[in-house]
Amino acid sequence: MDQPLLATDPHAEIREEVRKLCARFPGVYWRELDARRGYPTEFVVALTEAGYLGALIPEEFGGAGLPLSAAAAILETIHAEGCNGAACHAQMYIMGTILKHGSPEQKARYLPGIAEGSLRLQAFGVTEPTSGTDTTALRTTARREGDKWIVNGQKIWTSRAEHSDLMLLLARTTPKDQVAKKTEGLSTFIVDMREVVGKSLTIRPIRTMMNHNSCEVFFDNMEVPAENLVGQEGRGFRYILDGMNAERLLIASESVGDAKWFTQRSVEYSKQRVLFGKPIGTNQGVQFPIAKAYAQMRAAEAIVKEGLERFEAGLPCGEQANMGKMLAADAAWAAAEACVQTHGGFGFAEEYDIERKFREARLYQVAPISTNLVLSYIGEHVLGMPRSY
Ligand SMILES: Cc1cc2nc3c(=O)[nH]c(=O)nc-3n(C[C@H](O)[C@H](O)[C@H](O)COP(=O)(O)OP(=O)(O)OC[C@H]3O[C@@H](n4cnc5c(N)ncnc54)[C@H](O)[C@@H]3O)c2cc1C
Repeated sequence: MDQPLLATDPHAEIREEVRKLCARFPGVYWRELDARRGYPTEFVVALTEAGYLGALIPEEFGGAGLPLSAAAAILETIHAEGCNGAACHAQMYIMGTILKHGSPEQKARYLPGIAEGSLRLQAFGVTEPTSGTDTTALRTTARREGDKWIVNGQKIWTSRAEHSDLMLLLARTTPKDQVAKKTEGLSTFIVDMREVVGKSLTIRPIRTMMNHNSCEVFFDNMEVPAENLVGQEGRGFRYILDGMNAERLLIASESVGDAKWFTQRSVEYSKQRVLFGKPIGTNQGVQFPIAKAYAQMRAAEAIVKEGLERFEAGLPCGEQANMGKMLAADAAWAAAEACVQTHGGFGFAEEYDIERKFREARLYQVAPISTNLVLSYIGEHVLGMPRSY
């Protein structure tokens, strides 16, 4: 399982360092946080200090200036070691919107702080309760008044909102009936939550089946300085779409890591657990689901790798990012299912960490994009079939 896809893995050293870091955060650390739905502050600080969360920020802004495949290697390793990158992975990709579409002043103001860890940009306010996947139907508005924008509305599933200083927010700045296309008239803002939280911004945590620190957020005449608009007014949807391939490839890498963790556990246990005079792993009924999930993981890993290569070469990679995300989430789920089954009753015991990882792995068939929407993308954009929605 440690065999890299390439004969020489360009990120072997990073993986080794991340493994060492993760060893300081064993299952008991995550179990305790899971029980109280706590935030893994110490883990996030350790990753920040090691420079991993600023991996994609260019060196001129104090980051490591690494390619996307390095960030993917970091997140995959975190998950393969039984840890969870969900507490901080967004820090890696949200800043891409500022980097690509932000003004020189915005880059200078925010990126160095994000790189050194004094500023957290890991809240991403896109999804709303009524519009869900139908993003252009979102109802949060931003109205220009002098040198400010006034924001009203609500977001849901804004992960890590309580643990972030900044939020990247998508809001409608021109009513839908006044734009030629519904994808127009949406704008992206950097919200400094420290200035407004508890006043015009209310954050309410949502208790979910796994520890994800996700929240509802409410905007009540929240003021955002005019200079915090990212790029051009009305083009925000395009900017958000631009960042999605990177996000999908990174999340897919986490799922590949999850699949590796589950499979490792399944293999070890199936060799140790002796019943009816032989290890349970000698039974094909036990062995085959593990082997099948492993094959699925390897296929997903190859597509993700192709996506990363295309991304880094500046080529279109929507097909690979979407397929990789779906296949990796499916592979992780197949490996999770095989792992629980292999462990029998012990798969349900908290101290084995399997039930926790099982709950965590399930998310990625729904977020950040659900499997059906990936299939729609493939049908429409890859295969040229009619749009289904
Ligand atoms: C723990 C968690 C963390 C999240 N973090 C964030 C975050 O930080 N920021 C953020 O903005 N969002 C976040 N999300 C939101 C996430 O991106 C959405 O949940 C996801 O995109 C699905 O949207 P929805 O929940 O509204 O489901 P809906 O859009 O209501 O969809 C429900 C079901 O219908 C299916 N469906 C919908 N339309 C179609 C169609 N045309 N064809 C076929 N099937 C369809 C979907 O596949 C899905 O299975 C998070 C969600 C969760 C659960």
